Amino acid sequence: MADLPLPLPLDVDQIKGFLDLEEGAALQRAAIEGAKRGACLEIGAYCGKSAIYIGVACQSVGAVLFSIDHHRGSEENQPGWEYHDSDLWDVAEGAMDTLPHLRRNLRAAGLEETVIPIVGRSAAVAARWGGNLGFLFIDGGHTMEAALADYRGWTPHLAPGGLLAIHDVFPDPADGGRPPFEIYQRALASDLFAEVEAVKSLRVLRRM
Ligand code: MG
Repeated sequence: MADLPLPLPLDVDQIKGFLDLEEGAALQRAAIEGAKRGACLEIGAYCGKSAIYIGVACQSVGAVLFSIDHHRGSEENQPGWEYHDSDLWDVAEGAMDTLPHLRRNLRAAGLEETVIPIVGRSAAVAARWGGNLGFLFIDGGHTMEAALADYRGWTPHLAPGGLLAIHDVFPDPADGGRPPFEIYQRALASDLFAEVEAVKSLRVLRRM
């Protein structure tokens, strides 16, 4: 944890998720800075790993993090897919349900007053959202449709000077799916964004 701007209140390695320490540190830096310009929001809560990194940053500056997820798992989390985890399967419902895990982890981290879960489809929330964002983290579905909807639906809400983070950006297709890379390229090509830093598969861009 030595590399983190702010220490975490629990051992994040015990939390299911796909974010590593260096990426979490970059998210903390971006959230601390972005929170000065507007609300902080992430798409793709899963079990709360990134929400804990970002939430601690928000807590330190008196900001909050809105954390959106339908909690039914992305395509790759469904049974038979590469990233399915049967611990997250609700047998009675016959569906994925990551929400109880998120709530448990936020409570354990002392972040229930800082991280505000929004349960629903990102695009449905984006279409009705008002107010500026200072920090936006896109880590939702990895289909082209989902990634584009997140990019198109949310980046217009980002205030000038605000920071956009995108996870799972893989320039080499052999390393992973392309949609997060495609929206990252789209952001750079738009001339609305300039790259701030690249940490593993995380990219942080500033809205001009
Ligand atoms: Mg991810």
